[in-house]
Amino acid sequence: MDQKHGHRIVVLSGPSGSGKTTLVRHLIQCAPVKLVKSVSATTRPPRPGEVHGDDYWFLSADEFRARLGQDKFIEHAEVFSSGFLYGTLWSELDRAWGQEGWAFLEIDVQGAMKVVQQYPDAVTIFVRTPSPEEFERRLRARGTESEDVIQRRLATAATELQLADRYKYVVVNDQLETAVSEICAILKAEEKARNA
Ligand code: 5GP
Repeated sequence: MDQKHGHRIVVLSGPSGSGKTTLVRHLIQCAPVKLVKSVSATTRPPRPGEVHGDDYWFLSADEFRARLGQDKFIEHAEVFSSGFLYGTLWSELDRAWGQEGWAFLEIDVQGAMKVVQQYPDAVTIFVRTPSPEEFERRLRARGTESEDVIQRRLATAATELQLADRYKYVVVNDQLETAVSEICAILKAEEKARNA
């Protein structure tokens, strides 16, 4: 592996409803640096249209625990108190670095902090909505979640927002294009700093 590219990690977090997924799609296409999206493992069942190995590695709880036992994860967490586990496999980082790219992790706050403990150099970006009211409106507009899930996500989001200051960058996703170009500028500057 080229040492110059060895430890490039960018971590993006933010409450669900902050527009992260769309943002990630745009960034992969137009970022000024090579981003290789890490495919997380999860015990959550696939949603309609989700593809194994593309959206997630969908594992049974036993399969997930077996990999935990083998130290295959850089981090893992139970998200939303849902009982489902999510984790980033070391093999995903190796895949990104093998392509001389940035490993691009879209993970929750707990996971992000664990990555930073191991890679203090990781570029951490927190995406937030303009206001709690706007966040709730977006979450409800999706119409895909039950009230119970919405309430849990709102509670998680409130906690996550308090943690935003642990991130190196906070980007408000009000206008998609503005947020994309802000993040592109961050990545360009970080790449430049590493090449200096
Ligand atoms: P969803 O189930 O909606 O796809 O994702 C739920 C949450 O899990 C999101 O907040 C996402 O950031 C988080 N997540 C996805 N993959 C990982 C992972 O590998 N590690 C951690 N810690 N969180 C993850």
